[in-house]
Amino acid sequence: SAETFVKGKTIELRKKHIGPSCKIFFSHDPIKIVKAKGQYMYDEKGRRYLDCINNVAHVGHCHPDVVKAGAQQMELLNTNSRFLHDNLVLYAQRLQATLPDKLSVCYFVNSGSEANDLALRLAWQYSGHKDVITLENAYHGHVSSLIAISPYKFIQLSDTEQIQSVHVIAAFIAESLQSCGGQVIPPPGYFQQVAQHVRQAGGVFIADEVQVGFGRVGTHFWAFQLQGEDFVPDIVTMGKPIGNGHPMSCVVTTKEVAESFMASGIEYFNTFGGNPVSCAIGMAVLDVLEKEDLQGNALRVGRYLTGLLEEQKEKHPLVGDIRCQGLFAGVELVKDRLKLTPATAEAQEVIYRLKEQCILLSADGPHRNVLKLKPPMCFTKEDADLLVGKLDHILTELEEALGLKFHNALSVENESSKRKPTDENGRQHLGGLAHGGGSSQEDPQIAKRIRS
Ligand code: PMP
Repeated sequence: SAETFVKGKTIELRKKHIGPSCKIFFSHDPIKIVKAKGQYMYDEKGRRYLDCINNVAHVGHCHPDVVKAGAQQMELLNTNSRFLHDNLVLYAQRLQATLPDKLSVCYFVNSGSEANDLALRLAWQYSGHKDVITLENAYHGHVSSLIAISPYKFIQLSDTEQIQSVHVIAAFIAESLQSCGGQVIPPPGYFQQVAQHVRQAGGVFIADEVQVGFGRVGTHFWAFQLQGEDFVPDIVTMGKPIGNGHPMSCVVTTKEVAESFMASGIEYFNTFGGNPVSCAIGMAVLDVLEKEDLQGNALRVGRYLTGLLEEQKEKHPLVGDIRCQGLFAGVELVKDRLKLTPATAEAQEVIYRLKEQCILLSADGPHRNVLKLKPPMCFTKEDADLLVGKLDHILTELEEALGLKFHNALSVENESSKRKPTDENGRQHLGGLAHGGGSSQEDPQIAKRIRS
């Protein structure tokens, strides 16, 4: 058996020994996963889940080529980058080939947070300034230096006055597509304009590709490339998918920025960053991406999925917006299409019901009302059909319970107050789920799930 403990015991030990702020999915009934392959995960009972959310298992969970590359190198040598090793330079060369020529110098580190922390150090040194501009609802990592630029988790509201009074800055940092912030796609040309202002103020442009890089957007290898060939960031940070689950990450920058960092006279050393095993794994990930044309798959399946989700938007008043780019998609749920009242409890309900049907998704964004899709890149059209079919069903049921109809979306609030009896029927029918359209009243049962 793949289990050491029965599930109840695992829960008990986790409660005792693991920090309570380390959150678990579906906390009232967590899933125990014992193995995974491709886009599927399996629990201790052998039940198969379709993984629509894990962008770390980029080329598929436990891809045999990646596992083999790591194991073979582990048998031979693993040490730090103070020795010459071909894996390090080969891998840097391979990564560089995916980027604009100017971005040619790599620093290998171990996590997305470490990459962004180093990016800030590079920016501070190069610019000689201190202030950093970030986007509302941004998340760039958990280390001390990133808390101030990660309002998604750490600050409720960004301090706009401060930004307006800034004359010189060290950096602007943004995800090329905002993920935790609610799957937000910036308008074309936006980064070019920002970069112009940022550079005028003496700063550098940092593109955080930790979530969205490595072909996920389908049309391009890097999501910042969606902005056009005339846009080149000064620093790019990478993580999550880079090692398909192996902890590694990277900062790539220009020769100028790297030389200025060198001029500080401080050595940069990272014990694990760029070790031969990580580099072998990184190369295997790039090989699989190419061999299996997974960027092409992201484009094709992404387009297909977008079409299916567009149909859902036509059909369901709860769907306020869909935002898709390759295998990066967001479905924003709203209780009122005009007021865009976030359907937070409903989004949570959707996630739980999908989980009961063995489909794994998450809800994110500042109001936790955006269904977030970023599956392994081997996701298929059949997977998309399965997911959207089930989603369609759930949305229909929720809308029935809410008394939410499409044709009167303009006056949902009035309608729902006039139709109270219908709402109450719906409430009974769905075991406690009913909300007045546009009202902020939450069903206590669902609200409890959200908070737990
Ligand atoms: N940047 C972004 C955009 C992220 O989403 C994350 C992690 N969610 C990080 C940085 C931090 O990465 P890590 O958790 O590997 O430190």
